[in-house]
Amino acid sequence: MSPPPMPVDTSILPDLKQDLAARPRELFIGGKFTAAKSGETFEVVDPATGKVFAHAASGGAEDIDLAVQAARKCFDSGAWPAMPPAQRARIMMKLAELIEANGSRIALTETLDNGMPLMMGYFGAVMAASEALRYNAGWATKINGETFTPSHPGEFHAFTQREPVGVVGGIVPWNFPFVMSVAKMAQALAAGCTIVLKPAEQTPLSAAILGELVAEAGFPDGAVNIVTGFGKTAGAALVEHPLVDKISFTGSTDTGKQIVKACTGNLKRVTLELGGKSPVIIFDDADLSKAIPSAAMGIFGNAGQVCAAGSRLFVHEKVRDQVLEGVTAMAKSLKVGSGLDPETRMGPLVSDTQFARVTGYIESALSEGAKVYTGGGKADVEGAEGGYFVQPTVLTDTVAGMKAVEEEIFGPVLATMTFGDDDLETIAAAANNTQYGLNASVFTQDITRGLKMARRIKSGMVNINGAGGGPDPAMPLGGFKQSGWGRENGRAGVEAFTEIKSVTVKLG
Ligand code: NAD
Repeated sequence: MSPPPMPVDTSILPDLKQDLAARPRELFIGGKFTAAKSGETFEVVDPATGKVFAHAASGGAEDIDLAVQAARKCFDSGAWPAMPPAQRARIMMKLAELIEANGSRIALTETLDNGMPLMMGYFGAVMAASEALRYNAGWATKINGETFTPSHPGEFHAFTQREPVGVVGGIVPWNFPFVMSVAKMAQALAAGCTIVLKPAEQTPLSAAILGELVAEAGFPDGAVNIVTGFGKTAGAALVEHPLVDKISFTGSTDTGKQIVKACTGNLKRVTLELGGKSPVIIFDDADLSKAIPSAAMGIFGNAGQVCAAGSRLFVHEKVRDQVLEGVTAMAKSLKVGSGLDPETRMGPLVSDTQFARVTGYIESALSEGAKVYTGGGKADVEGAEGGYFVQPTVLTDTVAGMKAVEEEIFGPVLATMTFGDDDLETIAAAANNTQYGLNASVFTQDITRGLKMARRIKSGMVNINGAGGGPDPAMPLGGFKQSGWGRENGRAGVEAFTEIKSVTVKLG
């Protein structure tokens, strides 16, 4: 099947690159772009070449304070939360339109910054972001409380109302920088909150375009603020700031734990979308023509840098060889290369650190007795020798207890295990044998078995016979166990940016 036509106008690339090289991206605070107070910037590296191609402002505690003050002022004055919800929705819809109108620039920036294939930069960043905005704009007019039958009916009228939690700090990782910023922002704004976004230091560039479009869409100053910078400086200042009411964090489980501790100062509300080590379970009656590509792209998509990636394959021994051969054939057919090459299906890892981490996990698995079925190391890409390319990799002879089976690799590395005619409890116990609980996939043509497995698996999301192309803004996303706290997306996601107030009226 040939891929759909490229929707991105790549003729703008030379000008975009020149512009990125010529001027550092600035912070966006109170509706205006500004340099960091320290005047410092940091280098941004193209993961496909390993070369510095841009700079971004290195925000620190002082900049975070200014951004939080701007968000606080916009919230406390009512400029955003007291605006009629339909008008708030209209502004959010306008931003969605502007994002699509600037789609080529955003997709190219995302590909240069993160390395993802351009098609993913378009559909997974631009279109997913505009969809998240439109979906959440719909909620702005539909956030309601409930009425209750009080303990003494006739004497009281009782109801709840949902109010925005206040100023939100949104901390974003590097794997899908644009859509994650926009999705967090969209939910917070729909609830009536204002926000300070802190993008990841590896991928700060598309956030500057977001700031520009926010200004154009007509948001009041301070509703959305963006401070690029490092986790230990800008991120830490945001989570510790006493005027921030909630932190919405997406990132690693280790950082999530640090954030929880840092939020105790003023007992900020905290939601956490963290790591995963998600199982893919293929029964012997599965439709392998669907299961194989799904298992392959579930771990090789975005070079495995996906929180919900299916990184542990559990396959029935009767179909084990067929599945491994099929996944391997797909791995070999994926063109690894620069995301800008329209033929590329798997780009580089985001950074040299990530490259060292992923290859380190492969080496550790081999030293513990695992075997490479396919892949297993650096991918050579002609003309891009400095890039952080790893081969799509399938490991066999992997068993519980190995580091590569227990820990999140966040790379294109699949650990495989087999099962026989075991009962569902045994298979589920193996799948649940992890500190994480984010996502799971089950392939079987017996829907009763699929549903029984879905009940037994301890994770926030379960896909039976295939997943969609990415998170659905309508479906709650989040994890059991150490994969997080709370949910993003859907009604649950928006409501996580609200407080419930119970109001009781004594009738005369
Ligand atoms: P990370 O935790 O290192 O960084 C994430 C963000 O937190 C960055 O913006 C970083 O600057 C900031 N940060 C780091 N230390 C901080 C601190 N002390 N205080 C405040 N902010 C701090 O994670 P990462 O390596 O960028 O992202 C990869 C991880 O994110 C993976 O574990 C992945 O599973 C997870 N992730 C989860 C989801 C989900 O929805 N569950 C989605 C995407 C990524």
